[in-house]
Amino acid sequence: MKNDQPLIGRRSVLRLAAALGVTVTAGALAADRLGAFDGAPGTAPAPPAPSGAAGPAAGPPASAPRLRPSAYRLQPMTAYAPATRPRALPPVRQRPFLSLTGVGRSMVLTFDDGPDPRYTPDILATLRRHDCRAVFFVCGEMAAENRDLLREMADDGHVIGNHSWSHPLVPRLRPSRIRDELGSTSEVVERAVGAAPLWYRAPYGAWNRHSFEIGAELGMEPLAWSVDTLDWKEPGSGTIVRRVLDGAGPGVIVLSHDAGGDRSQSVTALRRYLPALLAEGYGITVPRR
Ligand SMILES: [Zn+2]
Repeated sequence: MKNDQPLIGRRSVLRLAAALGVTVTAGALAADRLGAFDGAPGTAPAPPAPSGAAGPAAGPPASAPRLRPSAYRLQPMTAYAPATRPRALPPVRQRPFLSLTGVGRSMVLTFDDGPDPRYTPDILATLRRHDCRAVFFVCGEMAAENRDLLREMADDGHVIGNHSWSHPLVPRLRPSRIRDELGSTSEVVERAVGAAPLWYRAPYGAWNRHSFEIGAELGMEPLAWSVDTLDWKEPGSGTIVRRVLDGAGPGVIVLSHDAGGDRSQSVTALRRYLPALLAEGYGITVPRR
């Protein structure tokens, strides 16, 4: 395959990313910490390299001081002001994270394809009722139409991940298209909430080498899942609940959807399995970097 993305040195990438303003986050994350992960049972081994586990800390220091003044010069900071501090870029992975380690008896709930005003607000309300945070892998074309829901997610402390712009099958795309799909989605999110996504998930879980390289260039780590509820098949909310509870375990990442079809079963199921997980002693957490 034609390689239009030759290897770029980490420093070059960092400079590029800093120039694009996509690898920054608004405050609060001074001490980068990448949670420890491993692969899901029965799959390939954990992402390579202890250096991978070290994640952002392995990168060169960010050139924050030079960028700071302009952010404050002309207008007061608002929730939507450009973030001011470039982050060190993550390494290029060879496979996505499939579960978390080092989080004790905690699990991660993820919702893909939204935001959708028909279902996402109900999911947010349930999470709020139980004081839990989740990861929303949003599609740019949905996010652009529902920026208020992005802000609601951010206000509630949820993690907003990048799920491409139009949900294509990534391995069929040229690298330039992959970059467009991921980059434009990150841009919409950053403009809405002041920070670009730090995580991305390929549609259909179909990753390729270019997606890992481009995701890393954009400052994102690839996050997959351990338990697939298959809620998009609309198997009934009871079945979704059972799949989550049967698959529950420390570090498990659950995949479900808040858009892309009729997701009323997913909404109903969450109202049942979330309190059940909590009653079983599970915590609900989000990946941190
Ligand atoms: Zn999807």
